Amino acid sequence: MVVLAPEAAATAPVGLRGCKALVAAGLGDSTLFPSTAGNGYRASLDSYYSLDVREIKPACVLRPRTAQHVSRAIKVLSKLPAGNVAMRGGGHSIWPNNNVADGVTIDLSLLNQAEVHLPNRKDTGAIASVGAGSRWTSALLEVEKYGLSVTAGRVGTVGVAGLTLGGGLSFHSGRHGFTCDDVTNYEVVLASGQIVNANSKHNPALFKALKGGGGNFGIVTRFDFAAFPAGPLYGGMVTAAWDHRDTIVDSFIRLVDINEQNPADSQIVLYMYDVATRSSTVSSTVINTDGVTNSTSFEPMAEVPCLSDGRATQTYSELAAAMSDNGGDRYVWFSLCFQNNKRVVDKATELYQQLLDETQGAMGDVDRIIFVFQQLPKHYAQKNAGGNAEALFQSKIAALTKELEAFAEAIGAATRWRYVNYVNPKQDPLKSYGAENIAFMKRVAAKYDPQGFFQTRVPGGFKISHVK
Ligand SMILES: Cc1cc2nc3c(=O)[nH]c(=O)nc-3n(C[C@H](O)[C@H](O)[C@H](O)COP(=O)(O)OP(=O)(O)OC[C@H]3O[C@@H](n4cnc5c(N)ncnc54)[C@H](O)[C@@H]3O)c2cc1C
Repeated sequence: MVVLAPEAAATAPVGLRGCKALVAAGLGDSTLFPSTAGNGYRASLDSYYSLDVREIKPACVLRPRTAQHVSRAIKVLSKLPAGNVAMRGGGHSIWPNNNVADGVTIDLSLLNQAEVHLPNRKDTGAIASVGAGSRWTSALLEVEKYGLSVTAGRVGTVGVAGLTLGGGLSFHSGRHGFTCDDVTNYEVVLASGQIVNANSKHNPALFKALKGGGGNFGIVTRFDFAAFPAGPLYGGMVTAAWDHRDTIVDSFIRLVDINEQNPADSQIVLYMYDVATRSSTVSSTVINTDGVTNSTSFEPMAEVPCLSDGRATQTYSELAAAMSDNGGDRYVWFSLCFQNNKRVVDKATELYQQLLDETQGAMGDVDRIIFVFQQLPKHYAQKNAGGNAEALFQSKIAALTKELEAFAEAIGAATRWRYVNYVNPKQDPLKSYGAENIAFMKRVAAKYDPQGFFQTRVPGGFKISHVK
């Protein structure tokens, strides 16, 4: 435990005053400083996905063990006149919306319990209660003990909290929609420090706003998901030579076209340029969540000779663990949504090749360039509920995204929506939610956080108050 002398506290930088207030509130055992013995502070930073985020130094990291700890922390931090705060779940966001320089970072990783409640009445289903610091593999391992699953993220190391608060794309999305659609209750710490439940009966507006609304309204400490029976799935990643790009893209476009009739199927297509070998490959992750090995959606893929083939009958947690990625690099991400139109994918391929041509000799530390195509059919939304290489790529990929957006617009294949979990911070995904939803989210933020703590003192993430 670190205790600052009162005179040191008075002159301490703003962020450190927040840390001092946490210690004074009895949270000293959970507050990690750069000098903390055992270096839990460094371990917390090293567990972020992005190297850019690992390099940000908060004045201290709070690792609460209970929702009550989070509540106590928010009570004291919100009473201070200044000092920035960040909150993190799995820490997998690639940009620094989950850590704060010289402020207090609340690392929820110890809230990582998952518990299954089996139904005791016919009209209720099983519920998986998952702590906000959990990652998907551990949550899945718990629910799979009961022959159940949840609408989980696809990569096991990704955090439950950030993914679910942004929406959440899952291999189960064909049947269940977004991950947030299967949340039946959120336990939330509000800016006042009050711990509330948000569900269809209690705080229903907050419940609705949290479905895609990110960290605008409070800190979620627990998610209750509707769990459903599920056995092993079939699938995995197949990698092929670049010459097979066309066949794989055709199979993807076809799969998306017939997806409403085959909701257990999904596919992700990935182009990867490897700077070391100066060559591109095309990969495809094909999944059937019912465990069917020869689904009609996969027929065109049978033609493709594979360089590697990870397809297998396996549990969701095994697949998510196999796809796990702890990061440790610097990343530049941009994201667009467009209609299922091969011409837009072909244009993206042309721009991918143009990017490689234009950046040859200027790759610097860049070791790979990846373009990913994922399905997001309308029926998912109809279920129940500067001078270095990084700066060069930031500007090049921003320009490329703009050009692709204009192309999709010109051929009538554009869509307005942007997926908050994949965008670049320069993009404006909340604006794409539409005027009615924006006005609704602003009303909910004003009701549950009247002083605007999560809008002004928690600068990370897309802020609803900033949307014009
Ligand atoms: C390798 C990789 C694979 C991915 N796979 C998928 C995928 O299959 N499907 C998909 O939809 N997305 C996927 N994503 C995107 C992912 O959903 C987002 O990066 C998400 O933000 C990660 O969640 P996290 O808890 O790890 O986030 P963090 O980085 O911890 O947080 C992200 C944001 O959420 C806020 N936040 C976190 N916890 C809370 C909380 N408890 N209360 C309030 N606000 C909170 C943070 O302040 C921050 O603004 C992937 C990302 C990566 C890097």
